[in-house]
Parts: sequence; structure tokens; C-alpha cells
Amino acid sequence: MSSNPLRFNLPSITEREWAYVRQSLESRHLSGDGGFTHKVHAWLKDHTQSPHALLVHSCTAALEMSALLCDLKSGDEVIMPSFTFVSTANAVVLRGAQPVFVDIRPDTLNIDENKIAAAITPKTKAIFVVHYAGVACEMDSILALAQRHNLKVVEDAAQGLMAKYKGKALGAIGDLGCISFHETKNLVSGEGGSLLIRNPELALRAEILREKGTNRSQFFRGQVDKYTWVDVGSSYLPSDLLAALLMAQLERAEEITAKRLKVWDLYHRELISLERYGVRRPFIPSHCEHNAHMYYVITNSLDERTQLIQFLKEQKIQAPFHYVPLHTSPAGRRFSRAHGQLTHTEQLADRLLRLPLHAELEAADQSRIIQAVHDFYQQAAQS
Ligand SMILES: *Cc1c(COP(=O)(O)O)cnc(C)c1O
Repeated sequence: MSSNPLRFNLPSITEREWAYVRQSLESRHLSGDGGFTHKVHAWLKDHTQSPHALLVHSCTAALEMSALLCDLKSGDEVIMPSFTFVSTANAVVLRGAQPVFVDIRPDTLNIDENKIAAAITPKTKAIFVVHYAGVACEMDSILALAQRHNLKVVEDAAQGLMAKYKGKALGAIGDLGCISFHETKNLVSGEGGSLLIRNPELALRAEILREKGTNRSQFFRGQVDKYTWVDVGSSYLPSDLLAALLMAQLERAEEITAKRLKVWDLYHRELISLERYGVRRPFIPSHCEHNAHMYYVITNSLDERTQLIQFLKEQKIQAPFHYVPLHTSPAGRRFSRAHGQLTHTEQLADRLLRLPLHAELEAADQSRIIQAVHDFYQQAAQS
């Protein structure tokens, strides 16, 4: 048995990443919006078919810009799942608006599209959906509902690059889409993110928000003869050095995704027999193309999950659980409210366990993980 702990996540770095980072350093252009950033923008637009894409320093930044672009203010409400990362909610709270949580579907763990309508009030301004594990929310019904009520749709597609819904790239379906390049995601620059924008006027404003509220980007395109403070804003753009690292990853997107999918598929095949113990595996609707962002199992209880985590830890396998539902957290109780019972959110968050998944995971190591999970359930069944 290998004595190195099996890491849950590991970024894949090749000669290409080293070469581009070196090239960036040699160019002496280290601030934002250099040559590599422009290449990243072109790749994102081409790949997602989004008319506008901006590289930002995190998905959190993209979510904050989205909240600004939705003109959220005190008294407004935004519908979202509670089963998500804090950034989805913080972006709304920072504008003085209130997140309103609705329950998730038990199969995909995405926001339940059939529970959104009942949560809409005259104060509702937007729906922030989260494509959990790179599996799409039911965007057709969500967009139709948003249109009927004149609401903006923001996609938290932090986990969704290279995944699709009915052939469309996640993040490029709603009004605004937010992608993450954090080290724990599929394609990474350590920290990083992107904002995808459908509407050209919003895109122009996004550019200004990202450049400290100035029209600096228009100045560089020769559209204005000096740049000045024209709107609110902050510094949301990353160094071109990170864009260089990211560009190498984007050029390897197919390769990295194929490797991840291979690992995902093997887990899915080899763990099917756990269903006889009541363990559930991920569900991918037939119209969704996922990106193997995550492989999880859903155990029967919190107790069982705690024991399984301990069992795997003893075998040096890192297997973490995931979100603590936001409505149960101290800040969630202060800043937000739940609409109705969040039964699935509460029950599934307690039972979900993620298994190591990255492009560099060796077959022998994955076999060991699969064997360990089987051993746990066999021993439990015997005792
Ligand atoms: C990772 C993640 C974020 C935050 O991404 P950063 O790039 O680290 O800011 C937001 N939402 C979801 C659903 C995520 O998984």
C-alpha cells in the first residue's frame, strides 16, 4: 500500500504551463489585460459561444460584479439554493439585498425549478442558479419563469466549464455566468474566474466595474481620448501572469476533461453494487453533458458518512464532505431566509461524500479507493 496520502485534488501542470508563465515574465507585462488575457477572452467566447467574456480574479468577483450589474439594493430579494458556496450568497448580501433559499432536487442536488415560482415576491429581482458538480440546472423552465416575472438569471457556473445543457455551455445560458479557475476546479490558475455576459450594454458596464469604475478599456481601444471615473467599480482583473498559466490549461481543456471523465466513469461503474446497501451515486439527466467536476456518493446517514470518512482517512485517502447549508450557518441566519422547508438540502448535505478526482489520479490509486469503499460496506454488513 502506498504511504503517501491520496490527495482529493491535484492541479495538472505540464511543460506548457511553465513555458507560458516564463513567456509572460519575459514579456514584462505583469498587470492585467496583457496578451494572455486577450487570448483567454477569445478562448472563452469561442468555447462558450458567449458574446462577451471577462477574466476576473475569482468566481467570487464575477458573482459580485453580477450583483452590481443586476442593480441589487437594500430591500431586494434573490432566489438561490442554500446548498452552495458562500460566495453565491455574499455577492447579494454585499449589495444589501436578501438571499431567499429554496430547496434542491434530490436527484441532481440543483435548485428545484418547480419550487422557485412560490418564492417569488414583488421584491424578487433575480434568480442565482448553481450548476452543482458541473451538472446543469433545468434552465429552460428557469428562464421561462424569469421572463414571465422580469427577473435576471445569473448562473454560478463555478464548477461548470466544459459542461453543457442541451448543447449550450454552462454560464452562457442566462444573463450572466460566473466561472471559477480556483485550484480546486477543473481548469485552474490558482485563483481566477470569468464573467460571461449576454447583453452588450451590460458588457460595457461590466468592463467599467472591473477597471475601478473607469472607462480605461474604451480608452485603450481608442474610443475615448482620456480615461476617467464614470461609475462605481473595483479592481477585479488578475495579473497577466495568471492569464498565462490559465491559457495553458485552457489549451489542455479537452485532454484534462477526458482524463477526469475516465476517472468519473470508472467510479460510476465500480460503485454501482453499493446501491444494494442504499448508497446513491450521481444522476446525470440525459440532456446534460457533465464535465466530471466531482464524484460523490450519498450515504444512508450522517453517522455512516462520518465512519466512512474515518475509515478512508486511516487508509490515507482524503474524502471530504461538502457544503454546510447556508440557511443553517450563523451568517445565513442573519442575512437570508428560507422559503419553505429545505428538507432535501438538509438531509443530503449531511450524507454526501466526495471521492478524490483529478486528471493525475493513477489507476492503481483509484482501484485502492474503490476497494476501500467496498471494504467499508462489506465490513458494516457483516457486523
Ligand atoms: C468554487 C466556487 C465558488 C467560488 O469560486 P472562487 O473562484 O474561489 O471565488 C463559487 N461558487 C461555487 C458553486 C463554487 O464551487
